[in-house]
Amino acid sequence: MEPQIIVEGPAVAAGEQARSVLVLYTGGTVGMSVNKRGELVPMDFTQIRKKVPEMRQLGMQVSVLSLPEPIDSSNVTPAEWLLLAGILQQHYAQYDGFVVLHGTDTMAYSAAALSYLLENLGKPVILTGAQVPVGRIRTDARRNLVTALEIAAARHPGGGAVRVPEVCVFFNDVLIRGTRAKKVESQHYSAFRSENYPPLARAGIELEFDDTLLRPLPAAPLRVHSQLDDRVVVLKLFPGITERTVRAILGAEDLRGCVLETYGSGNAPTSPWFLDCLREATGRGVLVLNVSQCEEGRVIQGRYETSAHLTELGVIGGEDITTEAAITKLMYVLGLGHDAATTRRLLMSDLRGEISPSPAAGTSIRA
Ligand code: ASP
Repeated sequence: MEPQIIVEGPAVAAGEQARSVLVLYTGGTVGMSVNKRGELVPMDFTQIRKKVPEMRQLGMQVSVLSLPEPIDSSNVTPAEWLLLAGILQQHYAQYDGFVVLHGTDTMAYSAAALSYLLENLGKPVILTGAQVPVGRIRTDARRNLVTALEIAAARHPGGGAVRVPEVCVFFNDVLIRGTRAKKVESQHYSAFRSENYPPLARAGIELEFDDTLLRPLPAAPLRVHSQLDDRVVVLKLFPGITERTVRAILGAEDLRGCVLETYGSGNAPTSPWFLDCLREATGRGVLVLNVSQCEEGRVIQGRYETSAHLTELGVIGGEDITTEAAITKLMYVLGLGHDAATTRRLLMSDLRGEISPSPAAGTSIRA
């Protein structure tokens, strides 16, 4: 089934006076209603204009497109990311910006995945959603959607250049780079935080952008990638993890990449069986990316004895990348199909603002 597009009035061409924004509804609490069993299920989104009348007051042309079968974001897979990237590519020229309405549960993963898939993005792609469905009195959907629309249409005051040419999450009152978002809250409105990087904008009485943090406009045209390799895994360490478990995960026949969630600044057990498992995996060509379980700070392999051996085993230090950005980066980079050396180099490089330069290297934290 084709995605269903519901356009109110003709879409104006990008660059004409009234800004045009395409809202892409994928599912999630934002558009849910209660079924007979009292469970929250995605509803028909054609009602959105009635539920958010403020959309008409923004002075912009808003078109709404719904996936044929909206989903709870727990069901999102790389296939949905490729579908979304394809839809954004298809409509890229006609709109000034895009808002993706998405469930909060996996929004951070989708934002990171889209950041990688949409190379040289020159327009805003703002993911948002809600903790309370749009029809409910205390919904946060209206506020999140209206501000996301404003961000998607935002221009620099002087020259009128696109202000946010990147994939971001906007939620509650913060605008977060797509590769830095993390869902941190399932009950309250402030569901997301920006990990290891300041928010790009804050929405208070005014929308305050930090232009020093926003990415510049790309020099090259948009390039949309269409391959993701899902032969990857996240292995989270915990005291007591057994050899059997680690062997089963790292020994999976077709495994190509692993995000190893380590302790502190990238530390892991030094037991011989654990090192053997890693050695066998990296020896088979599995790329192991070391990401810290800490919410702040960075991986520094070699700071402690318990991480020195990882570099020798070929484990790649993930610096200050989030798990969400790391697993989607593995999928993306492996999907590019380069040789092993190039793949490793790309994994170590900052591709979409997911890694801050190391302060030890004498650079600022700006990506
Ligand atoms: N389970 C929902 C989802 O991620 C939660 C939400 O949207 O807030 O689709």
